Amino acid sequence: MADIELHAIEKRYGDTRVVNGVSLTIRDGEFLTLVGPSGCGKSTLLRIIAGLEAQDGGEVRVGGTCVDDRRPKERDVAMVFQSYALYPHLSVFDNIALPLRTRRLSFAERLPLVGRAFPRRRGIERAIRAEVEQAAAMLDVAHLLHRKPGQLSGGQRQRVALGRAMVRHPAVFLMDEPLSNLDAKMRVSVRRELRSLQQRLGLTTIFVTHDQEEANTICDRIAVMDAGKVQQVGTPMELYENPANLFVANFLGSANILDERAGVPMPAGKRLVFRPQHAGLTSPEGAALRGPVTHREFLGATVRYAVRIGDSEVLIETPFQSGRELRDVGDNVGVDLPPRRMLFLPA
Ligand code: ADP
Repeated sequence: MADIELHAIEKRYGDTRVVNGVSLTIRDGEFLTLVGPSGCGKSTLLRIIAGLEAQDGGEVRVGGTCVDDRRPKERDVAMVFQSYALYPHLSVFDNIALPLRTRRLSFAERLPLVGRAFPRRRGIERAIRAEVEQAAAMLDVAHLLHRKPGQLSGGQRQRVALGRAMVRHPAVFLMDEPLSNLDAKMRVSVRRELRSLQQRLGLTTIFVTHDQEEANTICDRIAVMDAGKVQQVGTPMELYENPANLFVANFLGSANILDERAGVPMPAGKRLVFRPQHAGLTSPEGAALRGPVTHREFLGATVRYAVRIGDSEVLIETPFQSGRELRDVGDNVGVDLPPRRMLFLPA
């Protein structure tokens, strides 16, 4: 079992609190994305789990055992970074084989010429070859084993880096923005591959990204961080439909936020929050929220309207139906918002 439990993790650099009491459990076989704005402490938290950084408070457990006293190598976790960190002078095969050789062969046995004199080296090399080929086949880089990293595309390099992490069979994968060096199209295809591989093999994975779409599409659950704290954890759907606060509502998808000046009764200290897609347009008569259309954007499948409500502006996105008349800028409209779509969140 490779559950990861974080208990009240704290980290300071000088006077700055970078991680501020994070408690979080990642289940065995789960893919969790850690998402939040740049500088909110995501990488630091990942490095603490990997043992590359010591926390100032709290505890990290892997599979029920506290690992705080273990060095990175002893933690059974593999870290995959955004830079592929492949050795340029080694072939793809040797890059993937490296962690196995380091672990199984002595220093002398690894030497190019001298090593051959050791009788047990051949058997070990044969086993390593089989494991590297198996990983390479799984990642679709088997035909590239003789190449150097410089002769590969970004996506291929990323898969080789993954292969090198995988052959170690770590209990946990920690990935720090591993796709951010790829172009947009490649990111989408590598992200799909990564997800299906992770599901097939049941790999426990924590994946750091600042990209909202990436975070939503690749994971089982998402943890949204801001200012060193986890703001909310849940499935992407749960967080979209029921954000815990204004930060989460704004960070995952767009959100309209209105205060009591909008004329809708609301609990003290709360704001009315709703998604543009959850509201429609209606006639202004009798509507609690009403005002003039200030902008209109045709997006293909939908039409997005901006409507001024008092001092604020809200966005309404409605399905486009051909043949049906659109509202014009300047028209007075009412906002049709079903009560179950109204969220009242702490200001
Ligand atoms: P993220 O991954 O969310 O972008 P980081 O965990 O990298 O955020 O950084 C969180 C904060 O800690 C940032 O303000 C960063 O400048 C600061 N920080 C990170 N590493 C160090 C360090 N070694 N020394 C001092 N400050 C650091």
